[in-house]
Amino acid sequence: MNAKVRLYVDHPLGAGQTVPLDRDQAHYLFGVMRLAVGARVALFNGRDGEWQAEVAEASKRCGVLACVEQSKPLQLPPDLWLIFAPIKKARTDFIVEKAAEMGAARILPVATDFTNSERIRQDRLQAHAVEAAEQCGGTYVPEVAELQKLSALLDHWPENRQLMFCDEAEVGQRLFLDAVQSEDPPTASGPWAILIGPEGGFSDAERKRLQAMQQAHVVSLGPRILRADTAAVAAMTLWQRALGDW
Ligand code: SAM
Repeated sequence: MNAKVRLYVDHPLGAGQTVPLDRDQAHYLFGVMRLAVGARVALFNGRDGEWQAEVAEASKRCGVLACVEQSKPLQLPPDLWLIFAPIKKARTDFIVEKAAEMGAARILPVATDFTNSERIRQDRLQAHAVEAAEQCGGTYVPEVAELQKLSALLDHWPENRQLMFCDEAEVGQRLFLDAVQSEDPPTASGPWAILIGPEGGFSDAERKRLQAMQQAHVVSLGPRILRADTAAVAAMTLWQRALGDW
């Protein structure tokens, strides 16, 4: 029988592999979930797929799990980055959680000209991505990058990565599916990124620079202006449906 509890571990997984647990993991499995020796746990580490493991040793502060069999291979998401300007804490957490669930390969917070929040806790956001992967059955955890300036990211933009630039100034104009379907040659394959601005939107200078990029596809997310967290989910849905693995 497969396990009901799924846990991310930063440890190699494979046949015969044992996995030591830290204090928090032992507390969760044995204190909160009340598992005992012999119980099953599903493990993943973002690299080796999902493994069914058995509790081999259990105590309040530590424990050991033993891998039994692989239950899922590693499933990589499409090569899609979600780039967004951090907003209020709970809404930023929401964006990271949803991006991990919806299949972003990397999550990149950026400081833009009108960014509301100049600081993020990268470790906390990364933990949200791990939790999201644990609960959605994913075997991959997207990296959450440190906050960087949008301009610095664009300075080193990879030539082959297309950019879905969600611009509120385009409201009701060029819809993403129309934009992609009208491409010649189609840009369906290869790496992509989605860019979502802050509550204050993009500055004229940013808009000018982005519009001039040959990889940029300036798109509208419909006739209404969406909050940044809604826009991130809407854009990922459209992209996944048109070009991704949905
Ligand atoms: N303050 C801006 C304004 O009033 O025009 C709105 C910014 S919006 C809250 C935050 C971000 O979501 C935007 O920068 C854009 O990336 C995205 N967004 C929201 N609605 C959009 C739409 N209808 N089309 C394209 N992008 C949109």
